[in-house]
Amino acid sequence: MSEKYVYLFSEVDQAEKHVGGAWDDVRSLLGGKGANLGDMTRLGVPVPPGFTVTTEACNAYLEAGGEFPGDSWKQELEAIAAMEQATGKKFGDPSNPLLVSCRSGAKFSMPGMMDTILNIGLNDEVVEGMVRLTGDARFVYDSYRRLVQMFGSVVLEVPDEVFETVITAQRDKAGVRVDSELSADDWRIVTRKFKELVSSFTGQSFPTDPFEQLELSTRAVFGSWNGKRAVDYRNAAGIAHDLGTAVNIQAMVFGNTGPESGTGVAMSRNASTGSPEIEGDFLINAQGEDVVAGIRKTQPISDLEQLMPDVYKEFEQIARKLETHFRNMQDMEFTIERGKLWILQTRDGKRTAQAEVRIAADMVDEGLITKDEAVKRVKPAQVDFFLHPQLEQAARESSKPIAKGLNVSPGAAVGVVAFDADTAERWAKDGQRDVIMVRPETKPDDVHGMLAAMGILTLRGGRTSHAALVARQFGKPAVVGAEDFELDLDKRELRVEDLVIKEGEWLSIDGTNGLVYSGQLPTVVPDLQNVNLLKILGWADEFRRLDVRANADYPRDAERAREYGAQGIGLCRTEHMFFETDRLPIVQRMILAKSVTERTEAIAELLPLQRGDFEGLLRAMAGQPVIIRLLDPPLHEFLPAYDELIQDLADLKVRLQHFQTMSEIDDALEQIRVKQGFLERVSALREANPMLGSRGVRLGILIPELTRMQVRAVFEAACKCVREGVDARPEVMIPLTAHVRELQVQRAALEAEARAVMAEQNVEVHYKFGTMIEIPRAALTADEMASCAEFFSFGTNDLTQTTFGISRDDAEAGFLMHYIRNDILTDNPFETIDPDGVGQLIHLAVEKGRRVRPDIEIGVCGEHGGDPKSIALCHQLGLSYVSCSPFRVPIARLAAAHAALDAAS
Ligand code: PEP
Ligand code: MG
Repeated sequence: MSEKYVYLFSEVDQAEKHVGGAWDDVRSLLGGKGANLGDMTRLGVPVPPGFTVTTEACNAYLEAGGEFPGDSWKQELEAIAAMEQATGKKFGDPSNPLLVSCRSGAKFSMPGMMDTILNIGLNDEVVEGMVRLTGDARFVYDSYRRLVQMFGSVVLEVPDEVFETVITAQRDKAGVRVDSELSADDWRIVTRKFKELVSSFTGQSFPTDPFEQLELSTRAVFGSWNGKRAVDYRNAAGIAHDLGTAVNIQAMVFGNTGPESGTGVAMSRNASTGSPEIEGDFLINAQGEDVVAGIRKTQPISDLEQLMPDVYKEFEQIARKLETHFRNMQDMEFTIERGKLWILQTRDGKRTAQAEVRIAADMVDEGLITKDEAVKRVKPAQVDFFLHPQLEQAARESSKPIAKGLNVSPGAAVGVVAFDADTAERWAKDGQRDVIMVRPETKPDDVHGMLAAMGILTLRGGRTSHAALVARQFGKPAVVGAEDFELDLDKRELRVEDLVIKEGEWLSIDGTNGLVYSGQLPTVVPDLQNVNLLKILGWADEFRRLDVRANADYPRDAERAREYGAQGIGLCRTEHMFFETDRLPIVQRMILAKSVTERTEAIAELLPLQRGDFEGLLRAMAGQPVIIRLLDPPLHEFLPAYDELIQDLADLKVRLQHFQTMSEIDDALEQIRVKQGFLERVSALREANPMLGSRGVRLGILIPELTRMQVRAVFEAACKCVREGVDARPEVMIPLTAHVRELQVQRAALEAEARAVMAEQNVEVHYKFGTMIEIPRAALTADEMASCAEFFSFGTNDLTQTTFGISRDDAEAGFLMHYIRNDILTDNPFETIDPDGVGQLIHLAVEKGRRVRPDIEIGVCGEHGGDPKSIALCHQLGLSYVSCSPFRVPIARLAAAHAALDAAS
């Protein structure tokens, strides 16, 4: 038997059997839309009959260079015959015509990316027949011109603008403002002109045979899988290129047959906020694309309740049924044909991050989904959104908005305005500028500009317009339908009342409330107070096995981290404290000291300052571990740069010749003396490869009084806390060790100091000593290291640097980006832990370390600690925790839960 390439919507059971039962495989075969249409038909939802040509047919067709596989075309014809039976109408029969739509439908929804053709089956004879049947010539010719227009642009590649020009000219001629005021005769004339257009553009007349129309449409949808905008979208959304698209052929129902008819798009819950009310737009007496195209002003769905209460009630029931069945918020297209409701498609609705967390949390409360499903549904990037900038409240209150549109994708965006997608992309990518892309409305061809922009503003369109859908999906703040603006694309100006904003000038938009401001408003990052997010994160905590700590250097960061759910500090980089303006001179004095006494004096001055820092951290993290890393960077980093000093000294010497007064000369001589001192020390400390030089534990060994002072400061602070009833848990971390002897020598000296402090203070502190694993040798000898360390912390920034032999400071500005662009490396190893190299070292070190010290505490504190992919690897490798910046703590909590849930399934 030949392969089955075509499934009627009523044959979804067969499709399920063919793929072995898994619904995901049905979606692969029939595409998301086709699978859902079949599923809805099975559920008893009123779906116009139809069939799906499979993605397998598409792939085989594309592979064969445009040949229908097997007898797939014959199967399509048989399916048409089955539709004729179901509807009692006949394809191409003027006395009782069946018209069909043809739509693409890939496994994953790609809104607006692929093509739709409506009213297939119309030709001059069928049109006459339909006029006789319906008595509504206006509707019939409107339908006919839509077929010619869509078929012309999608299949025959005539530019759509040309068709629109014809309509505009006809409107002017008829003296009307909107399309709905055009008469039957107007549409007849428009249709004739459209057909002439097609002939002159393509050199062929418009195909009148309905079967030829069907065949060419099927081919066009298959072909559109490899079209530029589809490929661009897949690249941006990370969708595989070999899935193929299915083709859905469905009986037409008409929303443009009078005031009892209409069409619309609605979500079963609010897509911006997630609140449980139906949200959407509709148009009376209109057809399909009118709603999403943003050409006519739509009505909110709540108006339907007044206009057609029974239809609205039925729609509400269906929405609930579909939500319960798919256990997710649904985005539905519907048509009302003379009072009868039809559902044309349903899919999981795109939504904002806020809506995602609210819907997930609500659905758990409603018993629709389980907590782990809710946690899995929310993506780390969506949590990230909550940490995105919002306009600063004071600035918002003191600025007057210049316009208001629809708030379709929340968050604030501030940038210079660019009036087309190419400019937006160029300015953002090459010019590194923050851009707001402003368009009359957006089309799929604009997606690259939207992705490059910080935010999107359109003058037309509704909540379900292309701009709104895409912006929400990619988390771009967006305001659409800001009708008060006028966009003059010739003069490159955006105008509202008397205000003129030229391309390249600043604009601020607030996608949360739809307001637009001129100029550059300051932004703030919001607090994580959203109750639903807190619920989801709370559930995530129940599932994750990895702890999440924060990299924090100051008490205020530690407090924020704790508020965000951090379970301790995984890394405090003490050198950051040394860079503060009141300390740097002391640190420099310590480095420049010519005698041990001079150095000891400087170090003694640093002691109380460090003690204060540590006390703040230990208090903020009471009851939680606080890992304090001893000084790590090369000392020259605290001194002026060598080249800068040479330059300054040369300048000063030249200026010296021109000074008039003694005090000017004295001043310059003093400066020369100081800089000369710096230069001598900087020259002495200069190393060819400082990142591999005197840093980390090596500093502690060379200047033992420095790290001893740091440990004294830690323990004096801890003793003070403990005495005051604060549960301080300091953990001292020795950086950049390569050999166990380094660790032994430093630890012995430092622990002796710690014990001395505790003895002086007569207080016992709960403490640990450990090391960073940042050098392959340390990982390879982790068993030896573990004999002298109660914890390991993988410094994956340095470990990546030392494993790859790539300078972390230079790589990202140089060849590494070339490697990534050219697929030599798929991920940036400084962003995502390289699983095969660095990951292997971690694996080995964990195993060796645990063999010697089973309860050893092991974590990651490099930048990777906040990267979801790396977090999944850390989970697999059995680490105890990840540590990341306070702002990534909530993301890490969720990612750790995903890692645990994915591993369990
Ligand atoms: C690391 O190397 O991963 C690390 C955390 O230390 P730093 O980035 O301070 O060198
Ligand atoms: Mg490091």
